[in-house]
Amino acid sequence: MNREVRVRFAPSPTGPLHIGGVRTALYNYLFARRHGGKMILRIEDTDSQRFVPGAEDYIIESLKWCGIEIDEGVGVGGPHAPYRQSERRELYLKYATQLVEAGWAYYAFDSAEELDVLRKEYESRGETFAYNFKVRTTLPTSLSLSKEEVEERIARGDIWVIRFKMPENEIVKMHDLIRGDVEVNTSTLDDKVLYKSIDALPTYHLANIVDDHLMEISHVIRGEEWLPSLPLHYLLYKAFGWTDTQPEFAHLPLLLKPTGGGKLSKRDGDKMGFPVFPLHWVSPTTGETARGYREDGYFAEAFINMLALLGWNPGTEQEIFSMQELIDAFSLDRVSKAGARFQPDKAKWFNAQYMHAKTAEELCPIYQPILREHGIEVSDEVAGKAAFIMKERATFVSDLWDLTSYFFIAPTEYEEKQLKKYWKGDNPARLAELREVLASIDDFSLENTEQIVHAWITEKEYGMGQIMNTLRLALVGAGKGPGMYDVTSFIGKEECLKRIDYLLANVKPLE
Ligand code: GLU
Repeated sequence: MNREVRVRFAPSPTGPLHIGGVRTALYNYLFARRHGGKMILRIEDTDSQRFVPGAEDYIIESLKWCGIEIDEGVGVGGPHAPYRQSERRELYLKYATQLVEAGWAYYAFDSAEELDVLRKEYESRGETFAYNFKVRTTLPTSLSLSKEEVEERIARGDIWVIRFKMPENEIVKMHDLIRGDVEVNTSTLDDKVLYKSIDALPTYHLANIVDDHLMEISHVIRGEEWLPSLPLHYLLYKAFGWTDTQPEFAHLPLLLKPTGGGKLSKRDGDKMGFPVFPLHWVSPTTGETARGYREDGYFAEAFINMLALLGWNPGTEQEIFSMQELIDAFSLDRVSKAGARFQPDKAKWFNAQYMHAKTAEELCPIYQPILREHGIEVSDEVAGKAAFIMKERATFVSDLWDLTSYFFIAPTEYEEKQLKKYWKGDNPARLAELREVLASIDDFSLENTEQIVHAWITEKEYGMGQIMNTLRLALVGAGKGPGMYDVTSFIGKEECLKRIDYLLANVKPLE
C-alpha cells in the first residue's frame, strides 16, 4: 500500500450504537493500526429529523470502553477539523452547485406533498415512482424550466433540492475489497437528493463523499447496507473529478439473528435475553432503556474478541485474541461475504475465557466493589485470592459473590439436602474428632493441613467422602465450593474451629 492509510468511522447519532456499528469501528481501527495509518471519527449529523441527543456521547464512550482509539476527529481534533458535519454545513453548497454547473446535478422544486401525490398515482396503476431520467424533464426542475424561471424561484425563496442527474443506461464498474468486481446499469438507479434548501444541509451522499475527499480517506470500510449507494458514490467521485484519489471500498457482511434469517435487532436481544448495544442506554426522549454488554458484566476485551470473529476469521484455530494480536492478524481478505450469525452463548464463552485467564491482581479491583456492596472489608490480597480460587467457575464478575461468599460469612443456615445426607450417623462425632485434629495443627497451610488430615483419616480407616462432606457442611453450609483445603487455608484455623463448633452446638444430628 503506497498511500497513507486513513480510515474513518462515520456514525450518525440516531440512537445507541448497535454492536454491528461497533464491529465496523473495530475493523476500521484494526485496519488502520495494521497499516500504520490513522483512524478518524466523523459524526454524520446532517439528518436533523433523526438526530438523538446523547447519541454522540454514547458513541464516544462506547469506543473508549472498547479500546478503539481515535487519532483524529470529534473529541480529539485534527488537521481537518471540524469533524462534525453540522459544523461543516457552509462547505457543502459550493460542491452541490459545482455539480449543477457541470451538468451532473439539477435543481428540483417539487414539494414533498406533490411527490406524495405522484407516488400514490403510480401505486394506483401498480407501478413504483422513481425520480429518474424518465421523469426529471417532466417535473419542475432546472432541466424543464427556463434559466430565468429557476433563478426567479430560487430568488423568491421557493423550496428546492439539488438532485444528482444519474446517467441513463451506463454501466458503472466498481470494485469492493471483500466482494470483488460489481457492475450496475445506471438506468436502475434514481436521482438522489444531494442538498436541501429547507434546512440548508447536504444529504448523507454529498456530505459523505465531500468529507471523505477533503479528509483524504484512503479506505471506506462500512456495513453492507451501503453497497447499493456505491454506484452513486463512484459517479460522484467522477463528477467532481476526484477519481485519482478515490478511496477503496470494503462492505462488511451483516450481523445476523441467532436463528440466521435477517439482521440482528434489539428485539432479538430482548426476546432471547442478550444485549445488542455495547453500553446501557436510556432514550432521552422516551425514557426507554436498552441493556449493554458493559453493564451486563462483560469484559471489554472479551466483547471485542467476540465481535472481531463475527465476519472475520484468522485462518487458524485460534480464538482468543488480544487487541494487539487482532491488529497483527487482521486483513480484509479474511472478511467473509456472507452474513455472520450472532451467537449469544459464544459471547458468554468468550467472557468466561477472559475470566479464567485473569490473575488475582487483575480480579481484585473488579471484585472489591462487589465485596464492599455486601459490607465486606478485606485487604486487596484477600479479595484477589478469593476471586482467583473460584474464577474457573465464573462467567461474569457478578457470579463471584455466590461462589465465594462463604469465605467471608460463616454459615448459620445449612442446605437441606446436605444436612439430610451428612448430618447423621457417625459424622457429627467424627467432625468433633476432626476439630481436635485441626486444633492441633500449627502450620495451617493448604498442603500441611491436607497431609495431616489425610493421615488421620487413613489411620482411623474412616470414609474420606463422609468426613470431607461433613467438614464442607460445617465450613460452607452447602455442597458447593472449591477444594476443602482451599477453604481451610483461606479462612484460617480459628475460623474453621469456630464454624465447626457452631454446627456442633446448634444443629441437632438428624438420626
Ligand atoms: N453515516 C453513515 C452511517 O451511519 C456512514 C456510512 C458510511 O460509512 O459511509 O452508517
